[in-house]
Amino acid sequence: MQWSWKRIPAEYLVTNVKIYQGAKISRRLGFLHVKKGRIEQVGVGAPSREGLPVLDGRGMVCAPGLIDLHVHFREPGQEEKETIASGSLAAACGGFTSVVSMPNTEPAIDHSGMVKYVVDRGKEAGLCRVFPTGAISKGRQGEQMCEFGDMVAAGAVGFTDDGSPVANGALMANALKFARMLGVPIISHAEDLSIVGNGVMHGGYWSARLGLAGMARAGEDAATFREIELARATGGHLHVAHVSTRGAVAMIRRAKEEGVHVTAEATPHHFSLDHSRCRDYSPLFKMNPPLREPEDIEAVAEGLTDGALDCIATDHAPHTATQKEYQFDQAPFGVLGLETAFAVGVTYLVKNKVMDLGRLIGLMSERPAGVLGLPYGRLEEGAVADFTLLDPDHTWTVSVDHLQSRSRNSSYLGEELTGKAGATFLRGRLTWHDEDVIGAE
Ligand SMILES: [Zn+2]
Repeated sequence: MQWSWKRIPAEYLVTNVKIYQGAKISRRLGFLHVKKGRIEQVGVGAPSREGLPVLDGRGMVCAPGLIDLHVHFREPGQEEKETIASGSLAAACGGFTSVVSMPNTEPAIDHSGMVKYVVDRGKEAGLCRVFPTGAISKGRQGEQMCEFGDMVAAGAVGFTDDGSPVANGALMANALKFARMLGVPIISHAEDLSIVGNGVMHGGYWSARLGLAGMARAGEDAATFREIELARATGGHLHVAHVSTRGAVAMIRRAKEEGVHVTAEATPHHFSLDHSRCRDYSPLFKMNPPLREPEDIEAVAEGLTDGALDCIATDHAPHTATQKEYQFDQAPFGVLGLETAFAVGVTYLVKNKVMDLGRLIGLMSERPAGVLGLPYGRLEEGAVADFTLLDPDHTWTVSVDHLQSRSRNSSYLGEELTGKAGATFLRGRLTWHDEDVIGAE
């Protein structure tokens, strides 16, 4: 039987690929043997089995399916921006096979029925695993805590009021305690609104020059400090979302050394772009936390390198074109991330020699799986065959044609990036194929 992109067989070999294993990429070419959705065998050299359909990987990197701990799929309530199905396709296009969705939909995911809704819609789309988080507080109002137990039973993998911080420290402490009993993390959008006020971009030289209200670093730093102290006091697992300041990276690094159960993520835009990008008042550079200063970018990259930060997460936040055409100060916060994350990592971290490709892929697969204890993110015998074929040398200029999201608000439109997923497989089944990266046979 011949290999066919149109009809993927139940058993096949992927050959001539470099294999990701434990934050390293094999120098020698190897193979992956997939049988009925599982990895039958993986290794360097030639496969022992013959006579199976063969997909020639042409020297590309065979990596575990990428995992994103932070996406906004907008369904229910804002389907004009994104649906669980369109977001799942954007994920597959970026090489992802698992995503963790945020609960700030309309209405919010704040009870087990809503959690189940997201799980079911994700399965229906069938393009990547969608793991929902639940809100910490009812309606994300910051007052009454949700029923965590019911929501975990329905499939919630953590809790967060993301989009907004939990202003009430006692509520946060309680949430950490309850989540600890259930073995799941509390994901913190660490922001002190009394400090940040009505800021729309990072508070510094450019906000002053552009006449826009600034968001001081202290807003993120103060909130991160509080969260760490509450995690220390309760023993709960704190996961800090979208870390963007030098100070927050340093605090998280120290807390880990002191044994606090804290993990953290950073977004591609926070290790690649600085606040000067706001100079033309383009809302494509408006997000929360905001693009900060070169020293923050350096600290975030360093944190990803030395382990202070655990993983890369996109904070994929679709908004309609009309909303992103508002004036900078009126436009909503947030940008897309799934389709460009790997390329931004290769372009800004690997090509700049901040880290090697193996570490980058680890930060986008094995490491985020570890944060949540998900049984994915590794290529090993017996594991589910979630994998992606990545070309780390493929150069492309980002255009709307490359975006599978319903929205178009990418910060990288028009920019030349290097690195792209050629094909993505979920449980051995093809979810994405880019013929420009790996041609048709
Ligand atoms: Zn957030």
